[in-house]
Amino acid sequence: MTKIKAQPGIMDISLYVGGKSHVDGVANTVKLSSNENPFGPSPAAQEAVKRSVHDLHRYPSTSHDELREAIAEVHGLDSDKIILGVGSDEIIAFICQAFAGPGDEVIHTEHGFAMYRISTLAAGATPVEVKEHERVTDVDSILAACTDKTRLVFIANPNNPTGTMIGMAEIERLAEGLPENCLLVLDGAYAEYVEGYDGGAKLVDVRENVVMTRTFSKLYGLGGMRVGWGYAPKEVVDILNRVRGPFNLSTPALAAAEAAIKDRTYAEKCRDENTRLRAWLSEALAEHGVPCDTSTANFVLARFGNPDEAQACDAYLQTQGLIVRQVAGYNLPNCLRITVGDEPSCRQVAHAIGQFKAGAR
Ligand SMILES: *Cc1c(COP(=O)(O)O)cnc(C)c1O
Repeated sequence: MTKIKAQPGIMDISLYVGGKSHVDGVANTVKLSSNENPFGPSPAAQEAVKRSVHDLHRYPSTSHDELREAIAEVHGLDSDKIILGVGSDEIIAFICQAFAGPGDEVIHTEHGFAMYRISTLAAGATPVEVKEHERVTDVDSILAACTDKTRLVFIANPNNPTGTMIGMAEIERLAEGLPENCLLVLDGAYAEYVEGYDGGAKLVDVRENVVMTRTFSKLYGLGGMRVGWGYAPKEVVDILNRVRGPFNLSTPALAAAEAAIKDRTYAEKCRDENTRLRAWLSEALAEHGVPCDTSTANFVLARFGNPDEAQACDAYLQTQGLIVRQVAGYNLPNCLRITVGDEPSCRQVAHAIGQFKAGAR
């Protein structure tokens, strides 16, 4: 037996399972399993990546000034309070590493994003899972679960995989009710899809205990580039920057994200298409007897009668070349999460679910 042992908590981590991308024996598939932008990144972002290849012998920026300033300008934020990460996953990891350790508790909700638990365990801290109310974040349950060991509370708003969100008044009540020395992390991976919602940025500006995370992987279609950011009080950013590697983001990634966020026309077009097709898809599924909660993101959570039916439907969709996401690992065994694709994909998946409900297997 080897004497080499991992730190406490590490072996409790179950590996993250990403959305499937192939079906054996099916050539042309439609991937609706990872909440990717069906239209891809802005052409300006693609051009920026091509231009960046001439500089690949140089180390990238460590301060990320240009991208932080571009983000600050678009969102009306203070660029000194922005930190960039290799996806927002890295920001989540920095937060856990910097603020939680052995003996500390980190709260996430029962259908919350898998990375909260993974990064908590990686930091040696203890994840605490709190009930939601009918697939919606429940502020009272979170407040009731807080102890003097609670250091972090993670909520995604809108949440993945439910697509539901809570209002600003509830978020403020949560931030106000947390114990001292506990940070509220608002994961805004899907905030761009909600018109008029700032992801909690203004709350960050007026409180000491709120951090917001955002990503270029969803609306901006840059999941393959791995760029995310956090917005936090200066003191918190200063702490997080100490655990950040100086060259965490590559030159092409920085260039792509800067061009993407500056292309407002493209981003708005993608958001509007998502809003239109999401409504169409939810309605089409409801007509086939498959209800969804009202989603505010770029996916819907389709609810089936029971776990067997959800699995059978997933298997049938795969025979049709349609890849969606099973979410049993998120305590939702009777559901399938379906990314809002382009119009042909939405029509295809709705049609196939209709056929399945009509008896096709
Ligand atoms: C997709 C997603 C992320 C973003 O991940 P990246 O590391 O930025 O690609 C973060 N939180 C939630 C809830 C997500 O669904």
